[in-house]
Amino acid sequence: MSAEIMGDPGPTGRFGQFGGRFVPESLVPACIELEEAFRSAWADPAFHAELDGILRSYGGRPTPVTVCGRLSEELGVRVFLKREDLAHTGSHKLNNVVGQGLLARRMGKRRLIAETGAGQHGVATATAAALFGMDCVVYMGEVDTHRQELNVFRMELLGAEVRSVSSGSRTLKDAVNEALRDWVATVADTHYCLGSVMGPHPYPWMVREFQRVIGEEAREQCRELLHGDDPTVVVACAGGGSNAAGIFAGFADTTASTLVAVEAAGGAAMTTGIPGILHGMRSALMQDEEGQILEARSISAGLDYPGIGPEHAHLGELGRARYESAEDKQVLEAFQRLARAEGIIPALESAHAIAWVIANAGTAALPAGSTVLVNLSGRGDKDVAQVRDVLRA
Ligand SMILES: *Cc1c(COP(=O)(O)O)cnc(C)c1O
Repeated sequence: MSAEIMGDPGPTGRFGQFGGRFVPESLVPACIELEEAFRSAWADPAFHAELDGILRSYGGRPTPVTVCGRLSEELGVRVFLKREDLAHTGSHKLNNVVGQGLLARRMGKRRLIAETGAGQHGVATATAAALFGMDCVVYMGEVDTHRQELNVFRMELLGAEVRSVSSGSRTLKDAVNEALRDWVATVADTHYCLGSVMGPHPYPWMVREFQRVIGEEAREQCRELLHGDDPTVVVACAGGGSNAAGIFAGFADTTASTLVAVEAAGGAAMTTGIPGILHGMRSALMQDEEGQILEARSISAGLDYPGIGPEHAHLGELGRARYESAEDKQVLEAFQRLARAEGIIPALESAHAIAWVIANAGTAALPAGSTVLVNLSGRGDKDVAQVRDVLRA
């Protein structure tokens, strides 16, 4: 195990007591093949050059950091936003799928499969498959296909096949199981494009590395804005935890910035979960007394995962990052407040991070006059109809 914070977890994929590779025997070779391919690609300047080029010319990187003039004045703290909402497809998810798509191509695979809950990762994977000319199958719980009809249509427009999963609770965790089952049978020509910093090794590490670009850009951009200083606090929302891991990675080597991840109160694996094994990893999971996995439920479908990536469980145990939660009501207020103060409609997921800033501005966690960098993980256009219905109800 590496002592370095947010470094290479080595061949075991362990982050302290968390992580690992808890998969059926039949998937071990696939995980090892993927780990070796990623290790070699990540050490290859030609791979980085191609990835960076696509993220720039297709993805819209680097995304800017916006200084929020009016919100800062209202709250008495300086609020900076890292604008992942301005990336192609409207969120940070593109960084991961372009990285994995390029890696899959390098491995000679011609088919991408993915799981999706809210549909956003399915849409991102379908986008990458179209870009690289690959076949794409997305597994989605039957309940979610009804809740997210428009995203099903988006994926189909992009050329993907959406397979509805009717086992278990017919939601995200069942879709993950089905995608893993597909992969066992098709691994020779298929890459499983997992959507967050979770699952078996090497995914938590690899996805964090593909999202690291957020933190590296933001670190530079903040230094320019703050004349060489780092922000007091860096805050991001966390479902599986990939946008948080990506921005944290840029600040891992300094203790000048406090790292805060905000989960949905109805999906708070860090504050209410206990260690267990699910989807190939050991991490903090929401479970009942018998160890049955509970269903996460919040206003933001994109944060409704009953677990969190294993590296977050480790960072939390070390005290290196803080894990908080936000209630739906605070999130709705933050959504509207950012829209009115700054002319930016955030994704409901990202509004969790804004809600934490609003609740804590002027307290010891975020003293008056300090600077907070918020990872604005996505844009809120996808959530406008839902918020209208909630506010009018
Ligand atoms: C999917 C999504 C998230 C949650 O995923 P993480 O892996 O926790 O980053 C957060 N924000 C947006 C906009 C998303 O689309």
